[in-house]
Amino acid sequence: MQQDHCVIIGGSHAAAQLVSSLRLNKWEGKITIVSADAFLPYHRPPLSKSYLSGEKILDEIMIRPPTFYERSDIEVILGTRVTAVDRANKKVHLDNQTDIPYTKLVFTTGAKVRKITIPGHNLPGVFYLRDLNDVDHIREYLGHAKKAVIIGGGYIGLETAAALRSLDMDVTVLEALPRVLQRVTAPEVSAFYSRVHSEEGVKILTNAAVESIDGKYKVESVTTADGQVIPADLVVVGIGVIPDVELAEQAGLKVDNGLVVDEFARTNDHDILGAGDCTNHYNPIYDIQLRLESVQNATDQSRVAANTICGKLEPYRALPWFWSDQYDLKLQIAGLSQGFDQVVVRGSTETGRSFAAFYYKEGRLIAVDAINRPKEFMACKRALAEQKTANPEMVADESVDIQEAFQL
Ligand SMILES: Cc1cc2nc3c(=O)[nH]c(=O)nc-3n(C[C@H](O)[C@H](O)[C@H](O)COP(=O)(O)OP(=O)(O)OC[C@H]3O[C@@H](n4cnc5c(N)ncnc54)[C@H](O)[C@@H]3O)c2cc1C
Repeated sequence: MQQDHCVIIGGSHAAAQLVSSLRLNKWEGKITIVSADAFLPYHRPPLSKSYLSGEKILDEIMIRPPTFYERSDIEVILGTRVTAVDRANKKVHLDNQTDIPYTKLVFTTGAKVRKITIPGHNLPGVFYLRDLNDVDHIREYLGHAKKAVIIGGGYIGLETAAALRSLDMDVTVLEALPRVLQRVTAPEVSAFYSRVHSEEGVKILTNAAVESIDGKYKVESVTTADGQVIPADLVVVGIGVIPDVELAEQAGLKVDNGLVVDEFARTNDHDILGAGDCTNHYNPIYDIQLRLESVQNATDQSRVAANTICGKLEPYRALPWFWSDQYDLKLQIAGLSQGFDQVVVRGSTETGRSFAAFYYKEGRLIAVDAINRPKEFMACKRALAEQKTANPEMVADESVDIQEAFQL
């Protein structure tokens, strides 16, 4: 009989959790990670924060030490891509022209950056920020740069702006929509972030669609559709990511804004599973099909996938949560705010740097954005997981203890 062999495509957050959970579950088969990245799995969040600013080095952002993989008997093939999946013969083909047989295959291929295609997009000095190499290249370039333009006012763009400000660069953020973080937060939260960035010396231009990146041999400026020319010697593009699912699609797996997996992380081929940013899955708490880009989802879904592989069918039922660090602001988000029709703010968004915004939909609490408010975050996270709600007036009233407001 063929020996059990779990092959994992991709070597990041989801893969690192998966292999660890497989061994914890006493999976005795062979485990191989095939990773296009040149490094063992590392934490991506610091890339736009403490690693970019130089506060942390590679050793400090590794998810597990190299000895973990040796000790746990996990084969890791770095700097190598899986180029085809042969489902009929249960093997994967690698770009070094070798084949690896599998009994279980897991896609943890994540997401890749959305590219900008305007004139000048290929000029030296234009960067994206997804992996360690990207940041190393930006850091090398920083020696030649004083003025940075960030294209995109989402979390990655704003975190990058904060990190570059800490290096004393002149930073401008260009956001095509009317406000930063528009897709993910309430207007009050966007206004708060615009205020803080401006207090920290970042210039934010909204309704600023970028028309071209200009320069003779390298980046010299960025031009917006309304004719503004912003001098720049470094441009970082942060306009979102798309799920990396071409390989899955070629293998005939069901793909629809991500690799479609069931509550046990299985694709339409039950010997092939998926976890992390690449998947489209069902969330029973919100009763929606969705794709998440978060460490929480990558790790929780990988635990479910590992259980499934080991024969323990336990459905995925995790509350989404996320964080973002900028300057002295620790934003913690629990739940999904999409579709909210009421926002209740506890504290002030107009002064200071600490408040919580609670999102409601049809009278039901659905999410919180807590800035330097760990107590509110924890209380709300628990309430959401238990599908409890709370009276908006009590939540807004700072004299009422937050635990009491949620009746926890
Ligand atoms: C700069 C930055 C900051 C972030 N900050 C936060 C944060 O503060 N909080 C938070 O919760 N999340 C944050 N995220 C998101 C978080 O990092 C992702 O949700 C997480 O990395 C997803 O992990 P993953 O394993 O699913 O996929 P990924 O991390 O995308 O990794 C997938 C890997 O698979 C590899 N791969 C793809 N195809 C193949 C193939 N055919 N063969 C071999 N390898 C392949 C890719 O090269 C990649 O290395 C941040 C992300 C970035 C980039």
